[in-house]
Amino acid sequence: MSDIFNNELFEAFAAASDNVYIYVCDMRTNISRWSRALVEYFNLSGEYIENAGAVWEEHIHPEDRALYNEDINGVFSGAKSRHECQYRAMNRDGEYVWLECKGSVIKDKDGTPIIFAGLMTRLDGQNKYDSLTGLPTAHELYHYNISEKKGIAVLMGLDGFRKVVSSYGYNAGDEVLVLFSRILKDSCGRGWSLFRFSGDEFIALAPAAGKEAVEEFFSGICEKADALELADGQKISISVSGGALLFPEDADSREKLIKRLENCLEYAKMHHRGSLVFFSEEIVKQHRRSLALREDLKQCIADGFRGFEVFFQPFVDPDTHRITGCECLLRWKGEQIRDSCPMEFIKVLEEYGGIREVGFWVMEEAIRHQVEWREKFGDLRVSFNVSYQQFMDEEFEERINQCLEKYGCDPSNIIIELTESCQVDKPQELASMFDRLRERGFKVALDDFGTAYASLEMLKALHVDYIKVEHSFVRELSEPGHDIDYVIIDNLLAMCRRLGYDSIVEGVENHEVADIVGKMDATLLQGYFFSRPVSRNEFEKLLEEDREK
Ligand code: C2E
Ligand code: CA
Repeated sequence: MSDIFNNELFEAFAAASDNVYIYVCDMRTNISRWSRALVEYFNLSGEYIENAGAVWEEHIHPEDRALYNEDINGVFSGAKSRHECQYRAMNRDGEYVWLECKGSVIKDKDGTPIIFAGLMTRLDGQNKYDSLTGLPTAHELYHYNISEKKGIAVLMGLDGFRKVVSSYGYNAGDEVLVLFSRILKDSCGRGWSLFRFSGDEFIALAPAAGKEAVEEFFSGICEKADALELADGQKISISVSGGALLFPEDADSREKLIKRLENCLEYAKMHHRGSLVFFSEEIVKQHRRSLALREDLKQCIADGFRGFEVFFQPFVDPDTHRITGCECLLRWKGEQIRDSCPMEFIKVLEEYGGIREVGFWVMEEAIRHQVEWREKFGDLRVSFNVSYQQFMDEEFEERINQCLEKYGCDPSNIIIELTESCQVDKPQELASMFDRLRERGFKVALDDFGTAYASLEMLKALHVDYIKVEHSFVRELSEPGHDIDYVIIDNLLAMCRRLGYDSIVEGVENHEVADIVGKMDATLLQGYFFSRPVSRNEFEKLLEEDREK
């Protein structure tokens, strides 16, 4: 037997820890020696193992074997000198545990590999408890045997937590998490278990609880989270969304339980923010649809933006109703999914990052059309929508400037609309970006003004050219009982004028509303009364008719 195994050092190191194991392999004979603790925990035949790689592979989770093999084969073939990977392996109780395996190759004077040695660390022994809240971590969920119990699982997420951190700082964010975890601990029923699942998400497992008890628990924590008080007296209101399911009925394994809870929470955040949503077939359907949408969108983008089209909706002068410009609005028909509305597919694009490429494509379409229409119809103000995420793209400014040069466009005819201003967590950076774009000559607009809760805050932080008044205030203006909307819009437009901003009033759906807002101080009007968003050909027809007036 090789000397390398028979030394006291090996035994001393091997005995040092129950969770960290050592191994040494003589690469010339392919015989290894592994820590006694490892041999016992994984029920191996003995400390000395021939062809340990193949023996060990049997214990590795089938899904992780490819990863393990790729790495270890690289070491044994000489292609790499270090082994480093994380995978699951089955222990003596038939449970998979996570391991981190690291090892290096030692070569002799001639460069021939002779020894492979390293450490294996059991990751389940670490981070049992979250150091901030003191709650068990998500890892501990793996010890909870849901197939033998019956109950309800709840996944709770704080809405807009990122915004709390960016507005009040990391320490305040941590304090909010600690306060919220205390609320959870105090509100849980007897025998319930709590876990910090990830950043701002927590799981409660309530064995033997009924739906009513869980609903009561949820409304209690929402009420308390609505009125948090930090140590310095600062008051913060947090909204909580939740997803829940019954186990084992809705999920009979931990993997399924976690996946389905995540789907429920995602659904709650999207459709019922601030509420608890129980698992249903509808949620599974929605989830499948968004996965299918994502695939379809990716394929279409890869095929040169197949199925994407820009529609145009006119801006008109409030007095003459003549067309002075238009908003570019994205449309898409996929290969599989033909009926997705912009709100739906744009959300999916934003979630997986596809909005970046599509956004650049829309930007180019807007600039190209502005230039193409110039000769025939004169200068039109053409706007396009940009989400905050797109604005924060490092390449945004460079791309728009390149595009401007490519088509020889005058930037003063391009309006960039910022959608979803409520998600802005770096107002300072956005403000500088707006300033640079305006210096270059572009016009910038704040979209959906009045609905996003941060509208006034944004108005103070950013210099813009246009305010777009959201259509929900405008649509029913002519109907009885909408005096408040009238007062809001009238004053909003007067305020814009006083601050030196132009305004675009959206949602003008009929003659009466057009008359009412026509008498206010709006710069431009937009809405179905003048035209729905239409294809390029139809928009050109509208322009021809308009120019003949
Ligand atoms: P938005 O920017 O607020 O766009 C105006 C939406 O109001 C459009 O819906 C338009 O069809 C609709 N609209 C126009 N006039 C009226 C009216 O008189 N009454 C009513 N009820 N609605 C009216 P659309 O085209 O479905 O777009 C929805 C949203 O999708 C847009 O809202 C915008 O936020 C987003 N979007 C559209 N194109 C793009 C794009 O290229 N990039 C990004 N990031 N977002 C886009
Ligand atoms: Ca818009």
